[in-house]
Amino acid sequence: MTANAIKAAIRDIPDFPKPGIVFKDITPILRNPVLFRAAVQLFADRHRGRAIHRIAAIESRGFLFGAALALALGVGLVPIRKKGKLPYRTVEETYDLEYGTATIEAHEDAFEAGESVLLIDDLLATGGTARAAASLIERLGARVLEIDFLIELTFLDGRSRLSPHPIFAPISF
Ligand code: AMP
Repeated sequence: MTANAIKAAIRDIPDFPKPGIVFKDITPILRNPVLFRAAVQLFADRHRGRAIHRIAAIESRGFLFGAALALALGVGLVPIRKKGKLPYRTVEETYDLEYGTATIEAHEDAFEAGESVLLIDDLLATGGTARAAASLIERLGARVLEIDFLIELTFLDGRSRLSPHPIFAPISF
């Protein structure tokens, strides 16, 4: 199963969640077990045998791929969540959106000092969310090995905001 077959299942939803945004709907991938497995396999094939101590997944669609990949690789999972959702003591990072700001959090004991973390989300747009998540991980004493996305919107050049972290995104639009 190639990345092209997975790409073909992604559905464009114009003007969602607001006018002018073309939302990339991944639910057709999730509801098809062959495609979902193939999507997770793209990441698993890349990382099998690498020294990854933890996978950090960004709420909420990052959880879907992050959790499946964590099981496939036999690696622990850390959720990075929107502010106010995590129950224990947290550290937070605030970043700019087109209008206003957003805040994400991780538990303060989520990572061991010096461990290598693979950060994952479903889609790279401007890169603001992933950049904030990467800086949270580093503030907690861990190292970001790579940032992975199933989909990259290349015209937004989010990649440049994530420098110097390596990026892997098998599907681009
Ligand atoms: P950004 O911080 O701009 O890179 O936005 C990334 C986050 O917003 C990811 O968690 C995506 O799931 C979501 N997102 C942004 N733009 C889109 C889009 N066009 N379609 C689907 N999800 C999007």
